[in-house]
Amino acid sequence: MPELPEVETVMRGLRAALEGRRIVRAVAHRADLRWALPVGLARRLTGARVLGFRRRGKYMLMRLDGGDSVLLHLGMSGRMLVERAGRNDVTLHEHLVMETDEGWRVGFVDPRRFGSVDLVPTAEEDAHRLLAELGPEPLDAAFDVASLSGALAGKRTPIKTALLDQKVVAGLGNIYVCEALFRAEISPLRSAHTVPGARATRLVPAIKDTLTEAIAAGGSSLRDYVQPDGELGYFQHAWKVYGREGEMCGRCPGKPVCQGIRRVVQSGRSTFYCPRVQR
Ligand SMILES: [Zn+2]
Repeated sequence: MPELPEVETVMRGLRAALEGRRIVRAVAHRADLRWALPVGLARRLTGARVLGFRRRGKYMLMRLDGGDSVLLHLGMSGRMLVERAGRNDVTLHEHLVMETDEGWRVGFVDPRRFGSVDLVPTAEEDAHRLLAELGPEPLDAAFDVASLSGALAGKRTPIKTALLDQKVVAGLGNIYVCEALFRAEISPLRSAHTVPGARATRLVPAIKDTLTEAIAAGGSSLRDYVQPDGELGYFQHAWKVYGREGEMCGRCPGKPVCQGIRRVVQSGRSTFYCPRVQR
């Protein structure tokens, strides 16, 4: 499932292809994804000029000159494809297509259909039901030790689980929570209410740095964002603990001090951590 850095990278790709452009053709191939698509979506997109983009958590907002924003969520399996316009056949599981006056074709592909597309007045983006409950953006200055400590106070769930709660902080998922906790040397099993204090002071910059580095790894130009098959995003991940069960963590002096990265299951999701480094 795409997390904040992947969504940010996809959004930057969309920005490179769409910002400032007029949508000359739009087609919706279904009436619903996770939820019903807005009535008349294709008609309302056609002819609109794209003013800009914004990301909120794992959601993307494409702002149109008519005063509406298109809310896009990739869900579990959603992908955005960018290619040259001109072909009329439909990619498998492609539910929405937009073509620009500059000759780009942008498609939203989602085999499992957990993604979503909606319209919201730009002035009321943050009141949309999917955005209204979101916690702070982790890269904003408002996300700091005090705000995180307040959100964790009294929480008896493991810190891993607490950080996946989008009301505590927006945009994190399983992978980057594991990575940030390793960087902060905090056990994912630790009760969340014990984190405020010295640990929260380490955790906030660990979250910011982990995300910032992952976004930077995504590149900085449309050429970086578009894979050879046209998909937006990036796939050269270098995770330190995620998916590395049994490997040395790289922070311990090595064997026999490091017992290797351990995998446990929390709330049905795999957690990876070094029990010696993370307390
Ligand atoms: Zn270790």
